[in-house]
Amino acid sequence: MTERPVRGGPGDGTRSVRAGLPEPVKHEPTLPGPVFAAHFHLPGDPTGPYTYGRDENPTWTHLERAIGELEAPDTETETLVFASGMAAISAVLFSQLRSGDAVVLPDDGYQALPLVREQLTTYGIEVRTAPTGGDAQLDVLDGAKLLWIESPSNPGLDVCDIRRLVAAAHAQGARVAIDNTLATPLGQRPLELGADFSVASGTKGLTGHGDLLLGYVTGRDPEQMAGVRRWRKIVGAIPGPMEAWLAHRSLATLQLRIDRQTDNALAVAEALRTRAEVSGLRYPGLPDDPSHKIATQQMRRFGSVVSFTLPSRARAERFLAALHLVEDATSFGGVRSTAERRGRWGGDAVPEGFIRFSAGAEDEADLVADVLRALDESAG
Ligand code: PLP
Repeated sequence: MTERPVRGGPGDGTRSVRAGLPEPVKHEPTLPGPVFAAHFHLPGDPTGPYTYGRDENPTWTHLERAIGELEAPDTETETLVFASGMAAISAVLFSQLRSGDAVVLPDDGYQALPLVREQLTTYGIEVRTAPTGGDAQLDVLDGAKLLWIESPSNPGLDVCDIRRLVAAAHAQGARVAIDNTLATPLGQRPLELGADFSVASGTKGLTGHGDLLLGYVTGRDPEQMAGVRRWRKIVGAIPGPMEAWLAHRSLATLQLRIDRQTDNALAVAEALRTRAEVSGLRYPGLPDDPSHKIATQQMRRFGSVVSFTLPSRARAERFLAALHLVEDATSFGGVRSTAERRGRWGGDAVPEGFIRFSAGAEDEADLVADVLRALDESAG
């Protein structure tokens, strides 16, 4: 997919390979290795930058700079990394909301959000929900303290008009957080669209190899971010140095991976649309997809995930079993294609034959051929 032009400065490939690198030091590596330290030498008064391993770590610092440069290259921001996407999501929700506040969540977002909803409710926080599509969250925004957006939504791939929702929220003093997991910072820059927080699981497309869990929060307001940092310290939901370093190493190929995977996702979607047994096909990059128009206004790449429905659970299971190049696994965004029958988890309002398909970085012709062959073989 051709990258849509952005303001001046280096392109996404250049920024990806250089993100977060420290100034060169003679005889030192370009990307310093992971620093394994529970504590640091600390004579005298306990001042930073590195005191105790739950508070700070130099390997996080490099990664946090890298993610910040990708999320908001032209804005002064702060990024904090976490042990997982859920740790990052919880950090924003539980640090920014107080008993008596109201929050608006999507009702079609990541399937752990209902668990979060239960927890927030026990703390006296009012949780309202509405679908992502049609900007329906606007209808329940009145008086809320925080608006939580997941666009594109997982797994339905609906998109909302982020600028419009942010404007409405800010007009009434509410903050806005966007789950940027599916898009990655090369697909969408929530802070440039006006959001206060960009929050994501780095487990998926950001790092792309399916070998680590990570989360992050990028925000522009130091006071709000101080609350998020405090929450991380209290809960201790921190990434290990090895994971942080591996994540940073993976960022160098972000543009290569995302471009390839986006091309592959579009090719798979185009192949699927020719098949009579496929219904409910969704991919924001398809020109006639309901999400396409708004997606083109706020996204720079449409992501690796395609969703569609096969006629029955049995047909979907046969299809998944017949695939050779696509692993039947949950998660998405990795260099190896994955797919799953989403209904197996319960929780998502999807038909029994609903498939969430994540295009990897295989050769396009091989991947499309595998999908079409598996469809033929599963027809039975
Ligand atoms: N947000 C979205 C959109 C997700 O799909 C996921 C996980 O699938 C998460 C957050 C949670 O991420 P993690 O599994 O890293 O906690």
